[in-house]
Amino acid sequence: MPDTPSPSQPVVTRFAPSPTGELHIGGARTALFSWAYARRFNGRFLLRFEDTDQKRSSKQAELNILRDLDWLGLRADNHDDIPRQSQRLDLYNTATRKLLDMGLAYEDAGAVRLRMDQDVSFRDEVYGDITVKADELEDFVIRKAPEADGRTFPTFHLAVVVDDVHMGVTHVIRGQEHLSNTPKHARLYDALGHARPIWVHTPSIMNPDGSKMSKRDKAKTARNAAQQAGILQSPIDDPKRYEAFLNKDNDDLDIALHIASVLGVELPEIDVADFRQSGYLPAVLLNYIALLGWNPGDDIERFDLPFMAEHFGFDRINRKNAKFDRDKLAAFNQEALAALPPDEFATKLREHFAAFHTAFVERLGDGFATFAAMYQERSKTLDDPATLGRFFIDAPADYDDKAVKKNLTKNDGEGLAMLAAFAETIDAIEPWDTPTIQAGLESFTVDKQLKNIGGIAQPLRVAITGSAVSPPIDATLALLGQQEVKARIARCLETVHDQA
Ligand code: GLU
Repeated sequence: MPDTPSPSQPVVTRFAPSPTGELHIGGARTALFSWAYARRFNGRFLLRFEDTDQKRSSKQAELNILRDLDWLGLRADNHDDIPRQSQRLDLYNTATRKLLDMGLAYEDAGAVRLRMDQDVSFRDEVYGDITVKADELEDFVIRKAPEADGRTFPTFHLAVVVDDVHMGVTHVIRGQEHLSNTPKHARLYDALGHARPIWVHTPSIMNPDGSKMSKRDKAKTARNAAQQAGILQSPIDDPKRYEAFLNKDNDDLDIALHIASVLGVELPEIDVADFRQSGYLPAVLLNYIALLGWNPGDDIERFDLPFMAEHFGFDRINRKNAKFDRDKLAAFNQEALAALPPDEFATKLREHFAAFHTAFVERLGDGFATFAAMYQERSKTLDDPATLGRFFIDAPADYDDKAVKKNLTKNDGEGLAMLAAFAETIDAIEPWDTPTIQAGLESFTVDKQLKNIGGIAQPLRVAITGSAVSPPIDATLALLGQQEVKARIARCLETVHDQA
C-alpha cells in the first residue's frame, strides 16, 4: 500500500544529484515528485550531493543546483546541512569491511566486488515485480581501487545504499535509467541486513523525434549546425578538440556554446537554468514537468505545488516514456503570463530583464510598466518582449523590403511623403504623451484626407521598427520619445530615398 504509508515509519524521500553540471529537467522532475510525496504524508524531503566522481564534481555545480531548486520552490528539509558523499568515506569503508568479513565481497585488483550469486527479485511501484537471474548478474565493484593518497572511494551503488539507509530514506524515487541498477542495490540492502526501501522509477523524457532528452542534445544541435554551415575550421584554439567534437568523441558544452554564438543558432533548453533564461515561470515549468509521466486524473492539467502536495501518488505514474512538447509548455506559459495582474507581470518582466536584458531596464526607465503592458498578451515567455520590442532600444539597422514597398514607396512614394509631412508636425505635439500623440495623428489624418489613421501609422511603424508591426502606434511613439522618433524618421527618409 505505497500510497498509505504506515504511520510508524514516516516517509523520507530524497533527491540525490551528482554535482557535475546543471540541474536538468529530468532531475527537477525527480525532485518535484520526491518533494510532493514527502509533503503529502508529512514526511521529510532530503537532498544529498553524490560526489563520488571527484574529478567531475564541483562546488559551483552544487550552488547552481541549490539556486535552481530554490527558484522552483523545492526546498529540502535538510537545506542547511546537505550531506556530501566525499565526506562520508568512513561510512562506506565500514560497510565494505562488513561485507568482506562476511565473505559476501572480495578484493579484486585493488577494488572490492560484491558477489551476485543468487537471483534477485524486487518490486518497483511503477514497473512492477522484477526478477533478474543470477547468471545475468555480474559481481560488481562496490569500492574502487585506492587513490594515490590512499583514500578509498565507493562506487555509486554502495554509496547510494549506505546513504539511503543512513538517512532513513523510505522511498527512492528516480529516473527509469536507474532501474537496471536496482538489482544491485536490492542485493546490497539484503547483504548489509537492512530493510529495502520502496522503489519508484519514473519514465524517461523523450524529444519529439523519439530520442532521449539529454544534456547531449546541445552538442548535437551545435554539431549539426556546424556541419550544415560547413565550418571545418576550428572556432576554438584547440583544433583537435574541435575535430573530436565533430566526430562525436566529445560533447563539449563550451564548443557547443561557441558554435551557437558564431552561427546564431539556439541550443535547446535542457537545464532548469535554460528555461529560466528563456523566460518560463517556475510554477508553469513545475506543472508541465509533473505531467511528464504523471497526471492527477479527471483530465486535470493545470495545477500548482499545493495541489501536488495534496494529490501526488505513485499509482498514476505511467510506464510509457513521456514526450517533451515544447509547444505545449509555451502555450501553458503564455496562458499563465496573460492571466497575471498587469502589475505582477510588469514586476516579473522587470526581474527577468534585470537579469538578462539590462539595456531595456536602463533605456525604458519609468516607461518599463508601459512596455510590459504592450507585450503581456502576446508573450509566450518573459523573454519574448526582448525580441518583439527590440526596436525600443536599437534603431532598425535596415528596413523590411516588403514593408517598405507596401507602406513607403508604393504610389510614387506616398508613404514617404506622409512621413516627411508628419515630421513637420512633431514639435507641435506637446506634451509628448499617448493621448496627445493620438490626437495629433487623428488631425493629421483629416488634414491629409487619408482613408484612415493607418495611412500615417504604417509609414511610422516602418520608420521606427523597420517592419510593419508594433504595439499601438500612439503609445509606442510616446514611449520611444519625441527626439528619438524624429531621428528615426529622418534616417528612414534618407535611407529609403537612397534605396529608391
Ligand atoms: N546521483 C544519481 C543521479 O544523479 C542519483 C541516483 C539515485 O537517485 O539513486 O542519477
